Amino acid sequence: MYFPSWLSQLYKGLSRPIRRTTQPIWGSLYRSLVQSSQRTNPEFNSFAVRTNTCGELRSSHLGQEVTLCGWIQYRRQNTFLVLRDFHGLVQVVIPQDESAASVKKILCEAPVESVVRVSGTVTSRPAGQENPKMPTGKIEIKVKTAELLNACKKLPFEIKDFMKKTEALRLQYRYLDLRSFQMQYNLRLRSQMVMKMREYLCNLHGFVDIETPTLFKRTPGGAKEFLVPSREPGKFYSLPQSPQQFKQLLMVGGLDRYFQVARCYRDEGSRPDRQPEFTQIDIEMSFVDQTGIQSLIEGLLQYSWPNDKDPVVVPFPTVTFTEALATYGTDKPDTRFGMKIIDISDVFRNTEIGFLQDALSKPHGTVKAICIPEGAKYLKRKDIESIRKFAADHFNQEILPVFLNANRNWNSPVANFIMESQRLELIRLMDTQEEDVVLLTAGEHSKACSLLGKLRLECADLLETRGMVLRDPTLFSFLWVVDFPLFLPKEENPRELESAHHPFTAPHPSDIHLLYTEPKKARSQHYDLVLNGNEIGGGSIRIHNAELQRYILATLLKEDVKILSHLLQALDYGAPPHGGIALGLDRLICLVTGSPSIRDVIAFPKSFRGHDLMSNAPDSIPPEELKPYHIRVSWPTDSKAERAH
Ligand code: ASP
Repeated sequence: MYFPSWLSQLYKGLSRPIRRTTQPIWGSLYRSLVQSSQRTNPEFNSFAVRTNTCGELRSSHLGQEVTLCGWIQYRRQNTFLVLRDFHGLVQVVIPQDESAASVKKILCEAPVESVVRVSGTVTSRPAGQENPKMPTGKIEIKVKTAELLNACKKLPFEIKDFMKKTEALRLQYRYLDLRSFQMQYNLRLRSQMVMKMREYLCNLHGFVDIETPTLFKRTPGGAKEFLVPSREPGKFYSLPQSPQQFKQLLMVGGLDRYFQVARCYRDEGSRPDRQPEFTQIDIEMSFVDQTGIQSLIEGLLQYSWPNDKDPVVVPFPTVTFTEALATYGTDKPDTRFGMKIIDISDVFRNTEIGFLQDALSKPHGTVKAICIPEGAKYLKRKDIESIRKFAADHFNQEILPVFLNANRNWNSPVANFIMESQRLELIRLMDTQEEDVVLLTAGEHSKACSLLGKLRLECADLLETRGMVLRDPTLFSFLWVVDFPLFLPKEENPRELESAHHPFTAPHPSDIHLLYTEPKKARSQHYDLVLNGNEIGGGSIRIHNAELQRYILATLLKEDVKILSHLLQALDYGAPPHGGIALGLDRLICLVTGSPSIRDVIAFPKSFRGHDLMSNAPDSIPPEELKPYHIRVSWPTDSKAERAH
C-alpha cells in the first residue's frame, strides 16, 4: 500500500483565491477568515512531538535531523521498517552497530502496528534501491534513537487495504478500519469539501452558521422520528428528521441566510444505504425564488468540488417531474446514459397482438418501449426470461422483447405478429441499430413507465457486467427535477393526501386556485437535485402566509395544527418570503469518492440494521434506570423465551 501524493492534492483547493463579494460589518474577523483559508498547506506538525510527517519527506530534506511518529507497517529482515502515519509511508533503517543495540531491540521486537517515535537523519537510498512507487521512495531515515510508544497486540485483521475483510468485522473494529488509506481519504475529502462549502456560504455569500436543537417535538408529515423519554411522565422529545421548522423560524427572526452542517434522525428501519442518523448541508434564505436557490447550489458545488475531479459544469439541466417519469420512469433519473422510454402507442393502433390491443382500448392505455443497445449481443435468453418474470411478478405487466433483426426473435412468437411497416416505424422512432433489442410493454402510462424505468437500470447494470461501457465512471451528471405535485395519495390510504416534499412547501404560483378545487393537480415549488440517479438534495420555496399554511395542514392534510401553533403564529408576525434546500452530505461524498456504500464516508456508521457493531448500541437499560422516565419494557413473548435461554 503506497500513499499517492493525495494529501497535497486534497489541500490544493485551499489556495484558490477568495473573491470578496460583500462588504462585511466585522471587517477584521472577515479578513482573518479569508487569510486563514488562503493558506496553501496546513501545518501538520505544529504542537506535536514530531518534526515531520512520514509522508512528507523528500530529497529536499536530505541531511535534516527529523523526529517521526507512526505505526510500524512492515519490517524486513530486521534491517528496515516502513513507518506509516496519515500522510504516508517512509523507510526507516534499523541501526546494526553494537552501540545502537537498544534501538535495534526496540525496532526489531515491536510487533507490526505498534506505535513508535524515531529520530534520525534523512539520507539518500543507495543507488538502485529507490522505490519510484513511493513518494518518499528516494530517501530513508538512518535512525539514532527510538521509543516504543505503545505495543500492538495481535490484530483481528491486517491494516492493509488489499486484505479482504467483512463489513461486520470492519465496523466492529472501526478504529482499526479507519487506519486504511481509503477511509482516511474519504474522511479527509469530506472534511475538505465541507470546509469549502462553509467558506463559500459564509465568507462569499454572508450565510450564518447556526446550530439548532436536536431535542425537539414531533413534526407532522414525513419520516418517522426517534423518541427520547423525558423525566416528565408520558412526555417525550423527538429527534428532528431535519431542522425544517427552526430554519424557517430563523428567517422569521431576520437571520436572512442560514446554513448548518446538520445532524438529522429518521427511524425508517433498515434500508440499504440509509442511516438512522445522517448529515445534511442545510440551507435557508429570505427573499429568494427557486432559480436563486438553484444558482446558489450550483455555485456551492462548483466551488467545493475536489480539484482532482473534472470541474462541475453549470447550470445543471432541469426536467419537470412529469417529464422525468415519462422519460426515465423515476423522479431521480440517471442521465449518464440514454435508453429513454419512448411512447410508441401510435405504431400499434392497428395491431393484432392481443395485449397491445387490449391496453390501447383503455382510456389511459399506452405502449412504451426502451431500446437496449447491442442487446442481441450482450443479453442471454435467460436474461430476457428473468426480465419478463420480473415484470409479471412485480408489475403484473407483460414485456415483449423485439429483436430488430427479425430472424432472432427466438422464444417470442408474438413478435412475429409485428408487421414489417410497424418494425420500420419502430426502428425510426427508437433510432435502433441492427444488434439492439427493444423491450416493449403496454398499459397505464405511469405503471408502464415505472416498469421500464426499473428495467432501464437493471439492463444498464447487466450490460456493464457483460463488459459494455455505458456510464463513464468519471462523469458526474447533475439534474434538477422541478414542478413536483404538491400532494401525493397517501400510501396507506390513497384517498387521503400527503405532502410530496413536506407540508411547508409553497404551491406553484399558477396553481394556487387548484388547492380549493382539485388539490391533487396542484404543482409545488419543490425542487430536487439528482446526481447519477441518486437524490442528493431537495428543497422548496415555503409558505409564508399563516392562513394558507393552516388551510393546507388542517383541511388538506388533516393534521393536528395545534402541534404547529408556534410556527403558524410566527408566520403571522411578519415572516419574510423564504425558501431553502438540504443536501445529503453522506450520499454526496459517497458519490464523489465512488464508495460502494454511504457507510464508507461516515466515521462511525450504524450497520444495515441500525446497530453500532463496535459498542453494541442500542443496548438494554436496567429497569431501575428506566424508572425516572416512567417507562417499563413490555417484552414481546417470543423474545422473553429467547432471553430465558
Ligand atoms: N428539510 C427538507 C428535507 O430534509 C429540506 C428542505 O426543504 O429544505 O428534505
